[in-house]
Amino acid sequence: MDKTVGVLGGGQLGRMLTEAANRLNIKIVTLDAENAPAKQINAGAAHVNGSFADPDAVRRLAEKCDIMTVEIEHVDTDVLEELATGLKTGPDWRLVNSLRRETQPNWRTIRTIQDKLEQKKHLQSHAVPTTTFEGLQEQCSAEDLLKIGNQLGYPFMLKSRTQAYDGRGNYPIRNPDAISEALGALHDRPLYAEKWADFRMELAVMVVKTKDEADLEWQVSTVAYPVVETIHEESICKLVYAPARGVPESVIQRAQVLARRAVAVFWGRGVFGVEMFWQESDDLLINEIAPRPHNSGHYTIEACPLSQYDAHLRAILGLPIPEDGVGLATTKTNAIMLNILGGLQPTSHLTMAEKALAVPGANIHLYGKGDARPGRKMGHVTIVTDDMNEAACRMETLINHADLIRE
Ligand code: ATP
Ligand code: MG
Ligand code: MG
Repeated sequence: MDKTVGVLGGGQLGRMLTEAANRLNIKIVTLDAENAPAKQINAGAAHVNGSFADPDAVRRLAEKCDIMTVEIEHVDTDVLEELATGLKTGPDWRLVNSLRRETQPNWRTIRTIQDKLEQKKHLQSHAVPTTTFEGLQEQCSAEDLLKIGNQLGYPFMLKSRTQAYDGRGNYPIRNPDAISEALGALHDRPLYAEKWADFRMELAVMVVKTKDEADLEWQVSTVAYPVVETIHEESICKLVYAPARGVPESVIQRAQVLARRAVAVFWGRGVFGVEMFWQESDDLLINEIAPRPHNSGHYTIEACPLSQYDAHLRAILGLPIPEDGVGLATTKTNAIMLNILGGLQPTSHLTMAEKALAVPGANIHLYGKGDARPGRKMGHVTIVTDDMNEAACRMETLINHADLIRE
């Protein structure tokens, strides 16, 4: 607990990580733009202003901490490798005699996951079931995509391999006529295609990896939080129900094992968000994995003995994580988390937060993110009760309001 943790990225996830660190007096330094959300609540620390995609800025962060971690996967992993191994790879390969600093989870994990195609190939090579996917060549043409359409069927999803979040980077192709529009929308990005997932429900599991090695038995290297249900609108997470509603126990068990198996094939320690599809066929397929705290795990702050942020800090620092810490607080605990997204007006999200203040038991988080664009994650509300119907009743007016401010 005497270590200083350097965090690449200072958005809402970094901010909530900082909140958890503060209670244990773990020091955090953040690399991001000046006054980023995580920096606002940790004013005493010597943060680094700059970008997590800039190697020099990452080196400056490394100098100020004992260990690094990420709140976002879109970081420069070459410099993380160099800092971890002392080797600069690539054409000008050389030994670097300067600073060494480890990152958790391991830079290899972040590098593999930040490219969704590489991530899926890695999972597939370990027999972890994912959505069916097809790589595309760099400058793929409409003709290439027509072939893919014949192969995968319609609709299919065209996805950016990199830099994706909140569905920015996804384009559903509903029929051959939509191909040129899709290529126009994603023209400057490296792409791959995914078969449409015919899902009954989207599920997510936060998994904590506590061992460094990849490919250990998942029972040994991981523990899992409960299986939650996530509801997305226009590819943006809107609601999380914990535990998932009306899912048979056998599916819950399978989902937890799948999530733990998926995380066990990566290197290093920390929490991982595992998104999956529960298919009409009853199969469970991995959608994607995040090597960090995740939107679907915000509910853990109020609903579990250890939050995903507590668990992440403990995992990366090698501190104990009691197994019951990652379950729901009691067998009766039910939680709903609603994201507060930017609306049509610059202050729409604030009126929403104000409404939430009047709801009994509502836990409100506002991230301090500055300008609210429509669909931008500005905060969230979590309600925890002993009864899911009761939680749903209390959340209803807020859900209605969320729909209202979008229009
Ligand atoms: P985030 O990182 O914010 O979760 P993202 O930009 O990485 O989002 P994805 O997770 O790939 O995007 O997709 C966002 C949502 O789009 C999914 O949660 C799901 O609702 C839908 N989606 C993604 N892939 C498919 C697919 N192959 N078939 C059907 N729906 C999909
Ligand atoms: Mg993603
Ligand atoms: Mg996703």
